[in-house]
Amino acid sequence: MAQLRAAHLSGLHRPTARRKDHLRRLRAMLVDQGPQFAEALHADLGKGPVEAHHTEIDYAIREIDYILAHLDDWLKPQSVQVPQQLGKAEAWTQLTPLGVVLVIAPWNYPLHLAVVPLAGALAAGNTVVVKPSELAPATSSLLARLLPGYLQPDTVAVVEGGPAQTTALLEQRFDHILYTGNGAVARTVMAAAARHLTPVTLELGGKSPVFVDRDSDVEQAASRLVAVKFINAGQACVAPDYVPTDRQTAPRLEDALAKAVHSAYSSDPALAPEYARIVNDRHYRRLVGLLASGRIVTGGDHDATTRFIAPTVLADVAPDAPVMQEEIFGPILPVLTVEDIDEAISFINSRPAPLGLYAFSNNPSTRERLLAETTSGAITFGLPMAQFIVPELPFGGVGESGLGSYHGRHSVVTFSHRRSVVAAQPSRPGSIGGNSRHIATPTARENFATKESRHSL
Ligand code: NAD
Repeated sequence: MAQLRAAHLSGLHRPTARRKDHLRRLRAMLVDQGPQFAEALHADLGKGPVEAHHTEIDYAIREIDYILAHLDDWLKPQSVQVPQQLGKAEAWTQLTPLGVVLVIAPWNYPLHLAVVPLAGALAAGNTVVVKPSELAPATSSLLARLLPGYLQPDTVAVVEGGPAQTTALLEQRFDHILYTGNGAVARTVMAAAARHLTPVTLELGGKSPVFVDRDSDVEQAASRLVAVKFINAGQACVAPDYVPTDRQTAPRLEDALAKAVHSAYSSDPALAPEYARIVNDRHYRRLVGLLASGRIVTGGDHDATTRFIAPTVLADVAPDAPVMQEEIFGPILPVLTVEDIDEAISFINSRPAPLGLYAFSNNPSTRERLLAETTSGAITFGLPMAQFIVPELPFGGVGESGLGSYHGRHSVVTFSHRRSVVAAQPSRPGSIGGNSRHIATPTARENFATKESRHSL
């Protein structure tokens, strides 16, 4: 901590060129060590190499490339108007680093959710402590071993461990904490942060609904749902959690979901090379317990020794069934029937605001009503989980699903302080009157910019 704070206070990591160098080093680690990370992700979660690259390693590389391409632009000072009484003064805002940032990552995307926030914090000129999840031990120890080979200990430190180590870490004073995980621990993190008045970003989860109505292409809805729901065996914060649909559509949708699962994972998903396993025995037992919450349309097979649970669709699920009481976070998709859009909206609104709200409906009024009458971290129509792959969109929840957001430009803003600057024109001795008008005096902001860019070089 002392080293990280001293490096921050020295201004060493403030220049844009330095920040970019950090990002390139982080990128190099992901490129050079990609195969090792893919192996670790397989060891922790049974992720196949294609999925490991697509959703973790390459995703993080793309995020870094995107930040590198735009960072200069995002860091430009933003001028604002100055009231007349300040004469020729100028005013602007400037993003400045916060200091030492703590990133606490969960187990389900253990590389992605450590490295993407890390990239944002470095791009904003901070020094960073990364605390990977102890429930993904292979990825955690690989990060701890490899990161110091690419980034100096005065830039990034990795602290491994579980609740005890995290509790000890949280006693330190950080300048920002980004926590990804469940809402119960989020409250502990926020309380610890409050002792130091440290701002927090909380990336949480919840039950993300998918409304499918009779005005949709049901086959397309089913195949798009299956394409995203069972990635990482459903262990994703943005995964579709449950499907409210009208009585008329339910049987068609159940049938289409079963066909889509079969075509994506064959009749024996245990053999599908890219299909992940459940992270540990506790979660396996929890999920197996939820399988009895409805009629099994497809799936339901499970095996404790490999922690395999087949992609499963449940029908005739009651609103008070166990599977509807908690975020599923696994490969189970319950279908519930509602009378109409009114009932769907009141059902969604009777529960905590979700991270994602997804809808399949070609009816413009249904889309407008969902937009106007509900709230969620993000909402998509016809493209579940797509909010995650649009680089310009902020990623985050609202209410119980989170606080604040990040990704791309939004990471740089989250991990920076937007500093207000007001500056009178510099007055130069001897420049008042006489020949002063012949001297090309830079504006206050240009002066500042010149100093900054000199610093950057
Ligand atoms: P987890 O158990 O790995 O915990 C997350 C982090 O909190 C870990 O680093 C862990 O060491 C730490 N931790 C655990 N207990 C602690 C304690 N008592 N005190 C201090 N730190 C502690 O992950 P999880 O919470 O099971 O993650 C799953 C949840 O995360 C789901 O609700 C999911 O929706 C959510 N999630 C959200 C996002 C997002 O981006 N919004 C992404 C992934 C997961």
